[in-house]
Amino acid sequence: MPSERVKAVLDRLGVAAADEGGGEPLESVDPSTGRIQGRIHAVTRVQYDARVAAALRRFEEWRMRPAPKRGEVIRRLGELLRAHKEPLGELVSLETGKIRAEGAGEVQEMIDICDFAVGLSRQLHGLTIASERPRHRLTEQWHPLGAVGIVTAFNFPVAVWAWNAALGAVCGDVCLWKPSPLTPLSSAAVQGLCETVAAEHGAEGVFTLLPGGSEAGGWLSDDPRLPLVSFTGSIAAGRTVAARVAARLGRTILELGGNNGVIVLDDADLDLAVRAITFGAVGTAGQRCTSTRRLFVQRGVARSAIDRLVSAYRTVRIGDPLEDGVLMGPLITRAAVDRYRAALAAAREQGGKVVCGGRVLERPGNFVEPAVVLAPRHDAFPIAWEETFAPILYVFEVADLDEALRAHNAVPQGLSSAIFTDSIRSAELFLSPAGSDCGIANVNAGTSGAEIGGAFGGEKETGGGRESGSDAWKGYMRRQTSTLNWGRDLPLAQGIAFGPGGRG
Ligand code: NAD
Repeated sequence: MPSERVKAVLDRLGVAAADEGGGEPLESVDPSTGRIQGRIHAVTRVQYDARVAAALRRFEEWRMRPAPKRGEVIRRLGELLRAHKEPLGELVSLETGKIRAEGAGEVQEMIDICDFAVGLSRQLHGLTIASERPRHRLTEQWHPLGAVGIVTAFNFPVAVWAWNAALGAVCGDVCLWKPSPLTPLSSAAVQGLCETVAAEHGAEGVFTLLPGGSEAGGWLSDDPRLPLVSFTGSIAAGRTVAARVAARLGRTILELGGNNGVIVLDDADLDLAVRAITFGAVGTAGQRCTSTRRLFVQRGVARSAIDRLVSAYRTVRIGDPLEDGVLMGPLITRAAVDRYRAALAAAREQGGKVVCGGRVLERPGNFVEPAVVLAPRHDAFPIAWEETFAPILYVFEVADLDEALRAHNAVPQGLSSAIFTDSIRSAELFLSPAGSDCGIANVNAGTSGAEIGGAFGGEKETGGGRESGSDAWKGYMRRQTSTLNWGRDLPLAQGIAFGPGGRG
């Protein structure tokens, strides 16, 4: 039985907490209290196979439906999300612990990508290329790929699905979603909305939910019926998924962990920088893939930047994520609290000094204080080379931009980055081939809070995938190159002459 609070939200959403599968229970634990607030069941292997088969039957029809008609389905989904933004955002907050504004922001991101996908449904386009042969037309067109597996992480339990599914659906794919087992209710609620839309548009099977844990993620990875698996999660899990999909020569889109840095130079607008860094490091309790984890401050402003940061941190109210005025909710699990504690212990051992926060709060739930750690040299501080999914900011004092860039790019991850400076030369160097090596590089704007219009993703161990805006849609389609001969001769490319009377 769902808790009273969850039941009230599900009622407003007009969906029941469906008992999804016949497998093990997936419990939703309120990170603010540690209490179970609802559950659904994982799919069994037999149910998994049946759902994939049903989705593939839908694909036969869906791929031939004109893309703008597919867009109408996504338009309707966007309308339903608009109408249910508040309760769905609240459910996301209840399961993840992110504050109300961020829960609602996540649903807004779903609405935005639906709008984008509707427009895209009339914009899917290929090229016409000059042919070297007379009376020949050389073109490129894009076709639906098939059944796409979408595996998502707990921290954006619904938006990441929407980035993939809205694009995948207008591209003519059918979308099979294996959500995080830590956020089962949010995924079931979204599936409920999808089913309403599908029933209205004869599109059953375009969106399929496959609740489960890492085992179900493995089924998707190994399944040759899925030409693409879009995986969002930790680097460790992504490595396994990538290897398994590659073993069957399938495709992946990988959106893995980040270790995002901000550089603040002497000429920066410190007001702007401190606000952006605080949001980047403390927002979502440091549990965004784009959270700010490393700060490189030039010597001239180091003292004042750190003082201002610490003052800003002291104003952050921690508590129930749905309460007004709260800026930071809990971490997702007790295990995440343990990882926070362990990272701070390692930081101290390696010569770091915790100048703000760093305590686990003694109250029910997984509440911790956001921490600022003054670090020694970057190359002597290995704890900062890995992603700890918690609100810990390591601060490094640097002499100049060169030193900052070297340290910034030294880590294995490459998702998001930012510089704060008023110098056009420094900004341009940061954005140049010799600058930030990340998929996202911002100037006078923080590392987190990307818009959907741009392609989203990162380099190196972040996986190289791109999702959301720009031309990320191409990842969900297959490209076909066609030569059409409308003449009466058969000229061969490269002027090759072949056979009797061949004219090249
Ligand atoms: P996680 O890796 O524990 O789980 C992510 C998903 O993968 C879940 O659905 C999980 O059930 C599944 N999974 C786990 N092991 C698997 C396996 N061996 N095979 C198949 N599936 C498997 O990650 P998490 O704790 O839920 O999320 C946090 C991580 O996700 C962080 O590292 C964060 O940076 C990353 N993340 C990245 C992005 C991005 O866009 N780059 C976005 C959000 C989160």
